[in-house]
Amino acid sequence: MNKKTKQVGLIGWPIAHSLSPAMHNAAFAELGLDWTYSLFPTQPGDLESLLKNLVAQNIVGANVTMPHKQTIMPYLDHISDDARIIGAVNTIHVLNGKFFGHNTDGIGFLNALKEAGREPAGMRVAMLGAGGAARAAIFSLVQAGVDRITVVNRTAERGVRLSENMARAFPACHIEFEPLSFETLNHLSKNIDLIVNATSVGMQPDDASLWPDDLAIPDDTIFYDVIYKPVHTLFLQQAQAAGQKTINGLGMLVHQGVVAFEIWTGQKAPLETMKQACLKTLGFDHEQGA
Ligand code: NDP
Repeated sequence: MNKKTKQVGLIGWPIAHSLSPAMHNAAFAELGLDWTYSLFPTQPGDLESLLKNLVAQNIVGANVTMPHKQTIMPYLDHISDDARIIGAVNTIHVLNGKFFGHNTDGIGFLNALKEAGREPAGMRVAMLGAGGAARAAIFSLVQAGVDRITVVNRTAERGVRLSENMARAFPACHIEFEPLSFETLNHLSKNIDLIVNATSVGMQPDDASLWPDDLAIPDDTIFYDVIYKPVHTLFLQQAQAAGQKTINGLGMLVHQGVVAFEIWTGQKAPLETMKQACLKTLGFDHEQGA
């Protein structure tokens, strides 16, 4: 590698099909930066030695994905307030040999919602899922002033824990838990502005949707799926067929990448270039297809 070339990358396992290298390398090229984005495939157990190598190789930063978003935290020197409350780090910045942890998923989720022309303040939200993506989305929605969030999760214990933690951190927002069931979704659908699928259900080709086929899709409701591969999950197809507004996970991916890029480089990220690079990698010529 050229001595002047700065390097960032993605820490995770498995990561072979990530869109991040195409997205960030296109952005570096657009800004004329001699930087490269690589993959750092890292199995659980190899994280500590990987981090030592990053410092030895003068690597400027990295994104962190499954399964390391939480397990990486004890190895970092400083964790941002956002990442601490969300409980996960998806971006690290290496400065003078020290690791700074951030979470850009929450702001990525929110910016994609705003980009779709929706103002979150006052919204009533159903959050399907209680994992890392849900935590980040709830954090950003609360900051944006939503009125109420109902966490709906298959495993009650995890959903209760998340809703209680968030309610404690943000007493001004009404945050509660309901178990995942037809009755819960039916009840919520009567009085809702935004329904988010923040589960991994929909990623596999034979996945059903968490929205039951025999439950009517509510009017005047935004359906937001954090999944970006496929871009048209069954959950979004159901809502589209009923004429409702939908948002896929691609915008969240691009916007979290934008914030990470700006943390590493200190320069304004070329959003459109990054979006187009993702679309191209997914096989779309332009945004209309996605
Ligand atoms: P986690 O493993 O932390 O959480 C998974 C969630 O999915 C849990 O709530 C789990 O419920 C639920 N779930 C899994 N299988 C089922 C099922 N069969 N039925 C009902 N619920 C189920 O994952 P993450 O939160 O990190 O990721 C979730 C999704 O978000 C992934 O698809 C990921 O790709 C996407 N994502 C997208 C991003 C973007 O930029 N667009 C960024 C980050 C994530 P339970 O607790 O019951 O197991």
